[in-house]
Amino acid sequence: MKKHLLDEALPLLDDVRKAAGEFIKSAATRPVNAVATVDHLRRTLSLDLTDDGEPADSVIGRMIADADPGLMASIGPRYFGFVIGGSMPVALAADWLTSAWDQNGGLYVAGPAPSVMEETAHRWLLDVLDLPRDSSAGFVTGGQMANTTCLAAARHEVLRQAGWNVENDGLQGAPKINVILGAEAHATIFSALRLLGLGSKTFLSVDVDSEGRMLVESFRDQLACCEGPTIVCTQAGNVNSGSFDPIGEIVEIAHERQAWVHVDAAFGLWARATKEYKHLAAGAESADSWATDAHKWLNVPYDSGIAIVRNSSAHRAAMTVSAAYLEPSAGAERDPLDWVPEFSRRARSIPVYAVLRHLGRRGVSDLVERCCSYAKLFATLLSAEEGVTILNDVVLNQALVRFTAPGHDADELTRAVVRRVQSDGICWLSGTTWHGGAAMRISVCNWSTREEDVEVSADAILSAFRAVVNG
Ligand SMILES: *Cc1c(COP(=O)(O)O)cnc(C)c1O
Repeated sequence: MKKHLLDEALPLLDDVRKAAGEFIKSAATRPVNAVATVDHLRRTLSLDLTDDGEPADSVIGRMIADADPGLMASIGPRYFGFVIGGSMPVALAADWLTSAWDQNGGLYVAGPAPSVMEETAHRWLLDVLDLPRDSSAGFVTGGQMANTTCLAAARHEVLRQAGWNVENDGLQGAPKINVILGAEAHATIFSALRLLGLGSKTFLSVDVDSEGRMLVESFRDQLACCEGPTIVCTQAGNVNSGSFDPIGEIVEIAHERQAWVHVDAAFGLWARATKEYKHLAAGAESADSWATDAHKWLNVPYDSGIAIVRNSSAHRAAMTVSAAYLEPSAGAERDPLDWVPEFSRRARSIPVYAVLRHLGRRGVSDLVERCCSYAKLFATLLSAEEGVTILNDVVLNQALVRFTAPGHDADELTRAVVRRVQSDGICWLSGTTWHGGAAMRISVCNWSTREEDVEVSADAILSAFRAVVNG
């Protein structure tokens, strides 16, 4: 049964390379939705575990065949659901190398080259996103853990200023931390607060305008109620409308009171890589921490998020670990585990390194601007049809669409159009609730989307709308 790694690995990798090639090739032509039902997938994939196992080539071969009908073509050019990027070829190739190298990405001594690639990706990110160049960065699984990491650094620092060491002494008996959020804060902020012992229901809520942006006056009112340690969470890129809080103004006011300002910017931060959209996140550079994703707009494979913190000692204090067998390094090396909640981990910054090196500043900017222009094109093409309304200001890459027709309930109609588009398989997008009503939500963040894809998809959406109205 035991074979040399090389004997067994090469044929398997060849099989996988072929299958991956087929999948990538088909992504532009296959139905964007998954065609299999959950019952079907359980029949083919949910087998009984055997005593003696199965040959590796059979495992991989069956996986390739049986998973296929249960895969979404979300790497393809006509997937506009949630906010989900694809994988740029260079990022995918780098991701394969990451697995083949299989270095423990936590420690310099366990993987010197990945550690240096990570510190380089860190430096390039601060450059592209134009954030303070001495900020620290941790490479985490996604926006959820980036928010959690940044807020842990915030928790450390606001309590340190109040004379409390939260890492040593925990929260029991600690000074109360005030948390201020916009009414449109993303779901992951609440789970981050929950994990950090700050509670997901104790925050002060700031009113927002029709695009979901915090109102500065409401923020002032809430801040005025706060004494002592205070953390403010702002947002760059509302997950529905793509709008930005007035971050610059909020930071200015918050910093007068020594509050920590965090920016949840899972995709919106990338506006800062462009000339055209940078103004949306103006002033964000003066915040204290920023959470963003690479697996959304930078189009690297899952999972890849980044926690960036201006005060690197707060960041490190909240995350670092020590153990007898972790010998102190000479000092010059950077250990990735000092900046993230994980200990051993995948060297997940390698695809980020590869894609930034490949695209350069201009390439990142072009990618972001192209997606934004396609969101506007969607809005133009769709709103030309009677009964189609664009609900948001399409400032970035997100468009919200609502459908109306005489004799139809607009919520039901809109949901039915979303379902119809999803099952037609020409493009894929999801639904949402905006201002209490149903909406279709279009997010453009795939590197491979072209103008024709937007035209074909807009046609598919309008055909679905007509089909639903005409029963
Ligand atoms: C996507 C998103 C998140 C969560 O990021 P994950 O990578 O899915 O964990 C948080 N905040 C905003 C604004 C987002 O768009």
